[in-house]
Amino acid sequence: MNFSEALRSAAENPDVVEGDERTRELALRLADVHERIDRALEASGRRERPELIVVTKNFPAGDVGRLHRLGVRDVGENKDQEAARKAREVHELLGDDPRDRLRWHFVGQLQSNKAKSVVRYADSVHSVDRLSLVKALGKAMARESHDPSGRSAAGPLECHIQVSLEAPESAQDPAHGLDAAGRGGSSAEQMMELAEAIDRTEDLELGGLMAVAPLQGSAHEAFSRLSELSQALRQQYPHAVEISAGMSGDLEDAVACGATRLRIGRDVLGDRSAAR
Ligand SMILES: *Cc1c(COP(=O)(O)O)cnc(C)c1O
Repeated sequence: MNFSEALRSAAENPDVVEGDERTRELALRLADVHERIDRALEASGRRERPELIVVTKNFPAGDVGRLHRLGVRDVGENKDQEAARKAREVHELLGDDPRDRLRWHFVGQLQSNKAKSVVRYADSVHSVDRLSLVKALGKAMARESHDPSGRSAAGPLECHIQVSLEAPESAQDPAHGLDAAGRGGSSAEQMMELAEAIDRTEDLELGGLMAVAPLQGSAHEAFSRLSELSQALRQQYPHAVEISAGMSGDLEDAVACGATRLRIGRDVLGDRSAAR
């Protein structure tokens, strides 16, 4: 039985759903997303299944608990204040059985002064886009190692370098372009500098790259470029294999271009503007 079949049968299983319509709905939506991933893998002849990170921003801790019940172990958030609160609430809801704890991925634009808070609950930060942030995260992790009770995740903080896939002529600010949707990130030239900084910072671990497809143009072309950047990165840092790409609207393109992690919000949880 594959993921989508297992989830469809969970949706019909009263022991899983326990009369909760939202759990059933989430199971069916997750099943659809897994089916899309399966089809995209087949179409591109890939075998290795990317990891699904469910982006739970705007949705309550109760939904994270429901997703956990359905087998989800990786969740993404993009705002520190919301994520910190939700991680605490979910912890109270689920307890801390280390065997099936959730991994929290911070995927949003991150101000350096939030680093201290983020490292307490995040296993991974996908949006490292400048040297000052590497420094802030390193410092925050060093502080946590003196107070091991503070950080919920074990081991180093995984960092993805967020790279910009905007065509150069459309980048608003070539040094650090960013728009409202969190597109932006570092340039290809800055990528190596950031990789080196992460690599030599104790308690930080270079996981790989992250990108958001540009608003204009082809997501497939943009993600192919991301795949090339990843190859260049891996020449120097062979362990930095992760490619975090693909959202609800472009997961097929991301799978075709070798994404190892998909960040899916809307197609699992529903419309954020109507979030309860
Ligand atoms: C919200 C968000 C996602 C998920 O997007 P959907 O379109 O809801 O799937 C992925 N990545 C980042 C950085 C996000 O902010």
